[in-house]
Amino acid sequence: MNQLRTISPFVASKAILRSIIPMTEDNTLFEFTVEDDALRACRPGQFVQLWIPGVGECPISVCSGRVGDTIQLTIRKAGRVTGALFGMAEGDWVGLRGPFGHGFPVDRFSGKDLCLVAGGLGAAPIRSLWQYIIDRRESFGKLILIYGMRHSKHLLFRQEFQQLLRRKDMQVYLAAEDVVGPDLPPLEFQLGRVTDMIALTEVHPEFEVALCGPPIMYKYAVDGLRMKGIPDSNIWLSLERHMKCGIGKCGHCFVGGKFTCKEGPVFQLSELNTIPEVIECGSPRCQYD
Ligand SMILES: Cc1cc2nc3c(=O)[nH]c(=O)nc-3n(C[C@H](O)[C@H](O)[C@H](O)COP(=O)(O)OP(=O)(O)OC[C@H]3O[C@@H](n4cnc5c(N)ncnc54)[C@H](O)[C@@H]3O)c2cc1C
Repeated sequence: MNQLRTISPFVASKAILRSIIPMTEDNTLFEFTVEDDALRACRPGQFVQLWIPGVGECPISVCSGRVGDTIQLTIRKAGRVTGALFGMAEGDWVGLRGPFGHGFPVDRFSGKDLCLVAGGLGAAPIRSLWQYIIDRRESFGKLILIYGMRHSKHLLFRQEFQQLLRRKDMQVYLAAEDVVGPDLPPLEFQLGRVTDMIALTEVHPEFEVALCGPPIMYKYAVDGLRMKGIPDSNIWLSLERHMKCGIGKCGHCFVGGKFTCKEGPVFQLSELNTIPEVIECGSPRCQYD
């Protein structure tokens, strides 16, 4: 099947489920062994189409910045495809197509001070970026990571955060609206939202900022960043839209004259200012919520 992959972007290549690591009540980290060179060359912020034979296909962000023989996806059980995956076992196989879309502009980010902002499941694509940066730490300037969630028990990548919080070469802010209860992890949370953390940080107009989260987070985070003087041309958002083909043909993800799958999912905010609905409250339900 892998040979067919080179013939058409519609043909998936085989990926073996190597490990299944539950992270929170409804989010699990799935690691796949991949042989397809295209998948192995995946960049931060890109996504793949996950295909389960006889069930269907859905887009999922790559959440590892360290791709090679394996690729990691953080998945929330939402419906048919993700539900079928949660029923699979190590050693089973799925199909993966991709990678698709433009990820975060890591070449432009080189040498710059960076602020990464994640909300909820938006931490998955942002993780691919922080891992990429940390592996090339000397090529980037200051690094601030802000990750917000409703409750501290929703924290993804808990063990990784225990290490990130100890690093001297980056600042990490974990914000939760609620941190009480038996699930309080041994990590330092701040009460509040990502916008409160943005106000606390020393970001300045030269920073490049990458965001991924629910649309309502974009609205308030963008306001906060603009108040810090960050120009729209330095703000990069990853958008989620319903998409099927991944290559700008089917039109499911077409918004404001753009195919989100092909021209995104990461967009420069200045490109999106003519499409206000993508960052306003009341946008369609988003998996990153
Ligand atoms: C670029 C991109 C990246 C993404 N990255 C991730 C990621 O990293 N991790 C992740 O978990 N998700 C991610 N998603 C979201 C994921 O693709 C969707 O959640 C997808 O719909 C899951 O497919 P499914 O077949 O499991 O769910 P579906 O069957 O499509 O169901 C999805 C939702 O729709 C509802 N629904 C389904 N059918 C109906 C119906 N007939 N009537 C009413 N409601 C219905 C379900 O209840 C569920 O809430 C991403 C999406 C995009 C576009």
